[in-house]
Amino acid sequence: MPHSSLKHARGARLALICLILAACLGASGQDAPATFSGNLGGERVTLSAAVHDVGGVAYVSLNRLVDQLGGGMTLMTGQGEISLDGASAVAVVNDAAVRTATKQFTLQHPVLAGDNALFIAASDAEAFFREGFGVAVTRTTAAAPPVELSPSTPADALLEEDPAALLAPLPDPAPAPAAVEPLTPVDPALTEEAPPLEPVTAPESAAEAPASATVAPESLRGPVLALALDAGHGGSDAGTTAQGGVLEKEVTLALAQRVAEKFKERSKIPVSLTRDGDRAMTAGERAASGGVKPGALLVSLHAGAPAAPEGAGVLLLHAPVTGRGGDPDALAGRAQSFAEGLAGKLNGAEGGAKAAVRAAPLRLQTAAGVPCVLAECGTLSTAEGAAALADAARRDALADGIAAALAELLNEHNARP
Ligand SMILES: [Zn+2]
Repeated sequence: MPHSSLKHARGARLALICLILAACLGASGQDAPATFSGNLGGERVTLSAAVHDVGGVAYVSLNRLVDQLGGGMTLMTGQGEISLDGASAVAVVNDAAVRTATKQFTLQHPVLAGDNALFIAASDAEAFFREGFGVAVTRTTAAAPPVELSPSTPADALLEEDPAALLAPLPDPAPAPAAVEPLTPVDPALTEEAPPLEPVTAPESAAEAPASATVAPESLRGPVLALALDAGHGGSDAGTTAQGGVLEKEVTLALAQRVAEKFKERSKIPVSLTRDGDRAMTAGERAASGGVKPGALLVSLHAGAPAAPEGAGVLLLHAPVTGRGGDPDALAGRAQSFAEGLAGKLNGAEGGAKAAVRAAPLRLQTAAGVPCVLAECGTLSTAEGAAALADAARRDALADGIAAALAELLNEHNARP
């Protein structure tokens, strides 16, 4: 078969798959959601996504899985760029090939597109996250009910340091999954995709927004001795690329430099940057930078939120408080308190960007050992958001607002007895 007709036949077949997918997504009948256990920097997170049967293959929303892991997705024509834990990968629609900065790998089934999301075969999820990001994700939905999983279950024993934990469901750190959200009579394909941004919360209600467990009071004490600003991505890792060509790594550096400059004018707390140039850094390298020391607060700046209700919104992420105690919970509790405080300051400022808070696993905090707040400052995923961040004056105004909010919050925090 000549190359062109082969391509044509393949295109027709894939178009058919897309039609089937669209039909399935529009239908109300769905199987029970597929659940996965993700291991991100030693922290376990439970993922759940509705299953869509596409020609006998169980597909799940890749956006939903990435979202629950604290990553982001930018959809472009014919492909999606997934950002997770400081790395990114590009998945091509109707193709099984996935490209990262360093390699390409092939899934068993093609990636499909539908309703502002990419879908992958549930059976491909493990390979996708392992090969693409070095993140261990394992499917926990089995034919047998979870209670029958035992420490001897080989597939789970590989990943779970504590297989017994599978018997007791973890408190879900993420915002309520679609299954327990108030049901609204709309297309299930739309309800499955929880909007990545929580509704913008007013300052007084911000404290109630996250789904984390109660913060231990002792974790909130102690002055902030330093502010470390981390410009997300860098070097070969561009982060999200906007349609107009704006790169997240450049936006985050410009934001970090401006926030540092303005913070200095308003606070005596020393401020530093984890990177001040265009270079790729691992979470460990960021954590090892001079400003990340005991007593510091680490604020990582990003601009790749998958979608935002308004271009200028700020999404503040902190690691979930699990209620299991120990250092991770103390750090998460302190980070949650700062994230909520920062949201309160931003939401209380007139004319500034509105902020929302939510919990997500943050490997950077695990690596740094200091509380970390990851701020998605606007989004490059929409034309409107990208235009706002490409405009130096508007970007600076956003940075100035964040600097003022940070300075006020930390100055007040340190002034408390
Ligand atoms: Zn990012």
